[in-house]
Amino acid sequence: MTEMSTMFPEKTLDEEKAWWAEQQEAHKLELEREQKAIAERKPADHYIHCRDCGAFVQKWRWVHKDHPQAIRNGWRPMCGSCSTTTTTIPNPNPPTACRRTAGKEFLHVRISEKALPPQARR
Ligand SMILES: [Zn+2]
Repeated sequence: MTEMSTMFPEKTLDEEKAWWAEQQEAHKLELEREQKAIAERKPADHYIHCRDCGAFVQKWRWVHKDHPQAIRNGWRPMCGSCSTTTTTIPNPNPPTACRRTAGKEFLHVRISEKALPPQARR
């Protein structure tokens, strides 16, 4: 009797194993593609310094200058230490809809009691 998968009732155990192997292979190829794309990044095309402290950031954190969010919302890379000590909060004084302030619906702030809006304080 063919053993059936417990996860996919319509698949046999062998089919399930093949499916997992396929997923793993696809994941591996995706990682390789990503690593290759990162390795090929050119400093001239990217923002390569931390938005907050100005330090040179690891290549995988670089932000392409043509990225829509970099253009529209001023998205910039952050170094490891700055990204672990800051957070994104809703802007307590959200801008009215206008071109000049678009993308300021959220604020990046240092994680500290002071930086948090009153309602977020304990
Ligand atoms: Zn930094």
